[in-house]
Amino acid sequence: MDSVEEKEHRLENLLTLVRTCHECELWKTRTNPVFGYGSASARIMFVGEAPGYHEDQQGIPFVGRAGKLLDQLLERIGLDRSQVYIANVLKCRPPDNRDPLIEEINHCRSYLEQQISIIEPVAICTLGNFATKLLTGKPDGITRVHGKPQPCPGFEKTFIYPVYHPAAALYTPSNLRALEHDFDHLRDLLANNTQAQVEPMPSRSDPVEETPQGQADPEQMGLF
Ligand code: URA
Repeated sequence: MDSVEEKEHRLENLLTLVRTCHECELWKTRTNPVFGYGSASARIMFVGEAPGYHEDQQGIPFVGRAGKLLDQLLERIGLDRSQVYIANVLKCRPPDNRDPLIEEINHCRSYLEQQISIIEPVAICTLGNFATKLLTGKPDGITRVHGKPQPCPGFEKTFIYPVYHPAAALYTPSNLRALEHDFDHLRDLLANNTQAQVEPMPSRSDPVEETPQGQADPEQMGLF
């Protein structure tokens, strides 16, 4: 395993690539790319969907209202931003906060996968459907899988812990209760150190087929 300094150096190099990335059209409308924030040696990563207005302005993930709720949830389990790593599926803001497109996700996923392989977290808490479906490689939606640890394909020492996106809990008290409950469970999982408790979820669908490029096809995954 790399030292913290090596991890930070590798993340810096990746950030340089993201700053000049023109793989999809989003660089044309973004103000800043939003690469990620936190500790390069975090035990837990949080992965959201895509930057919104405030994140695009500041270049930092989860600084708007959903971010304030994420901060409160972290505090609830005795953590703060400096102890975790926060990233998104997309590094650039989709105009008008529209949903990410398949091609944008396919171009951007390698940055997230490299962040995961550098940081080597014990757990990735996926916030909402996009991150959950992308990283589990399964079509099962967040309502079905939230609070249930899942294997992380390609990263066998890491488990995925899906929860509702904080934005989905801002106006829906039942989602907020579920989110708080799932965070409490996450604290227990991390305290008990975890991997043994990951049960693969039986999927309702057939295995995801690979595209000719060797990437899982998000459309087939039911990502959209
Ligand atoms: N929503 C996200 O998914 N990510 C952010 O960074 C902010 C809001």
